Amino acid sequence: MLKKIDHIGIAVHSIAEARKFYEDGLGLICERIEEVAGQKVRTAFFSLGETHIELLEPMTPDSPIASFLAKRGEGIHHIAYLSDNLELQMEQVQEQGCRLINESPVTGAGDKKIAFVHPKSTHGVLTELCSSEE
Ligand code: ZN
Repeated sequence: MLKKIDHIGIAVHSIAEARKFYEDGLGLICERIEEVAGQKVRTAFFSLGETHIELLEPMTPDSPIASFLAKRGEGIHHIAYLSDNLELQMEQVQEQGCRLINESPVTGAGDKKIAFVHPKSTHGVLTELCSSEE
């Protein structure tokens, strides 16, 4: 079952540049900056209530975030939902004919187990399912 929107992922060219808006403009506090080598992405997390903003900066030119930026520019990259049972949630979307980008869970930021659902299956929104289990 889904519990909440865990975070909204926003693709940026530079976390150093973009964090100024989130910190000085919006007054949010950067909790941590973390590199997720598997996804070739550097992330910065800001919390607001129970939800987070995740800035995503490409670590390499062949990072999926680099191709997103080249195609679409900066902006909302994905919405992440927190589930208390990731495997079951993945099965459920698959049963509805949705295409998963990750057939089995991968490790995302914060060492969370995550899986992405293809935006073609979700009316245009890259959707991340993430696990609340440790
Ligand atoms: Zn995410």
